[in-house]
Amino acid sequence: NYSTATATEELIKPSVSIDHTKLLIDGKFVDSASGKTFPTFDPRTGDVIAHVAEGDAEDINRAVAAARKAFDEGPWPKMTPYERSKILLRFADLLEQHNDELAKLETWNNGKPYEQAANIEVPMVVRLLRYYAGWADKIHGLTVQPDGPYHLQTLHEPIGVCGQIIPWNFPLLMLAWKLGPALACGNTVVLKTAEQTPLTAIYAVKLLQEAGLPNGVVNVISGYGPTAGGALAKHMDVDKLAFTGSTETGKFVLRDAAQSNLKPVTLELGGKSPFIVFNDADVDQAVELAHFSLFFNQGQCCCAGSRTFVHERVYDEFVEKAKARAIRRTVGDPFKAGIEQGPQIDDEQYNKVLKYIKSGIESGAKLETGGEKFGSKGYFIQPTVFSGVKDDMLIAKEEIFGPVQSILKFRINILTDRRDLDEVIRRANKTNYGLAAGVFTNNIDTANTLTRALRREHRQIKVKVVGRRVVVTRISLVQEIISSNIGDVILGNESIQSKTQ
Ligand code: NAD
Repeated sequence: NYSTATATEELIKPSVSIDHTKLLIDGKFVDSASGKTFPTFDPRTGDVIAHVAEGDAEDINRAVAAARKAFDEGPWPKMTPYERSKILLRFADLLEQHNDELAKLETWNNGKPYEQAANIEVPMVVRLLRYYAGWADKIHGLTVQPDGPYHLQTLHEPIGVCGQIIPWNFPLLMLAWKLGPALACGNTVVLKTAEQTPLTAIYAVKLLQEAGLPNGVVNVISGYGPTAGGALAKHMDVDKLAFTGSTETGKFVLRDAAQSNLKPVTLELGGKSPFIVFNDADVDQAVELAHFSLFFNQGQCCCAGSRTFVHERVYDEFVEKAKARAIRRTVGDPFKAGIEQGPQIDDEQYNKVLKYIKSGIESGAKLETGGEKFGSKGYFIQPTVFSGVKDDMLIAKEEIFGPVQSILKFRINILTDRRDLDEVIRRANKTNYGLAAGVFTNNIDTANTLTRALRREHRQIKVKVVGRRVVVTRISLVQEIISSNIGDVILGNESIQSKTQ
């Protein structure tokens, strides 16, 4: 029933050449010290796209030495903020000019729909880098009123060599989130890409070199986690580590940082975010945004709304409509126009998601639709919806990171509406993860109560729907909502009325 390209249909072959499969160290594209390479795959088929230089501890050492030299000897940290900003802006311009090739390569290596890569991800990267370029000359310290005849001031300085480790779900966006702020502030970088998706990063940093970045300021190492990633986390000459990935790996990284030079670490980890729909919400609109918030990017989003709580009064209607929407979801070759869902990233994630689906069925959740692999090759999975999900089921507790929507019911109390809120707040907060939360209601009191009551970690995203207006406090979500054309978006005082504006 899924509207789709059939499994036997020929897949579109992208016309992108793979020039850059090497490591970037000190401004040069080089082989790994060991000479080893590793294959990178097309998730539509499991076929090898290219063999990429496999960096390990020795390459991390070379890269950190280059970044150290670039930091200590300059010119980067000593450049004026305006000069740094200009290079970042030129980088953004070049990425924009190469939007199409980057999007094709991203789709080929990651499996995400080309239309989303070309119209959402790459444009967001460009916008984000321009945003950070604007920060370069707006970094201020403070003057402090001292207790005595002194002059007291704070000065913000670059921290030094930043190690950065990124995941595969938004390869370019993760790269930009890491490089943008670090470079705007005058740091130098050694970035380790995810082993599943090394290609677009290498392409992008070629453009960064073209934009005028001095040698050694950014170094990019492709390779595996425990070897290349571990070496970076443990390195004694890395001043700061920024990691985005799974909670499990985050713990290793934190341990390695602690056991080496106690470098400060920032972690962006997994999620199991609640998406709460009240009985006063427009059900059709709630179904659409709940669907989007879970299924976007094949369900591979850290802030996916992966626990859909629905008020008892609208539960049955919501489940019927959520099921119908999942059945309408277009699955197939991500290069085809109109395809909403491509394959999962690799066989490991594919098997993991299928295992969670099995666990959902075995634990007694009702499989409304999907539940199987899709097609005969590659890592495609049918859009899957479970209803009757209980809080203690694995599918409600653990991050699935796939196209599996779990719908839970919360009770009504006709005597006191307040009790309704208490129950859903308690259940939404009962998770080991933090990250995001969504609230769907037409009642501004409910929206305000929930945004305060949901645990601090959940406040990274707040979504409140009031009539057809969506209030959002995270820029990536603004873009997503605009592109889904669900309603007007209010961002601070700015109102973005429609996609075209
Ligand atoms: P992962 O933890 O398996 O890998 C992330 C990165 O860590 C990769 O580059 C990997 O090679 C590296 N790595 C693995 N083992 C390592 C080790 N021992 N030492 C150092 N580095 C190591 O995560 P993933 O599967 O690539 O990404 C999916 C996860 O990322 C999900 O849990 C998702 O929620 C999370 N994520 C979070 C955010 C956020 O902003 N919070 C954003 C995107 C993804």
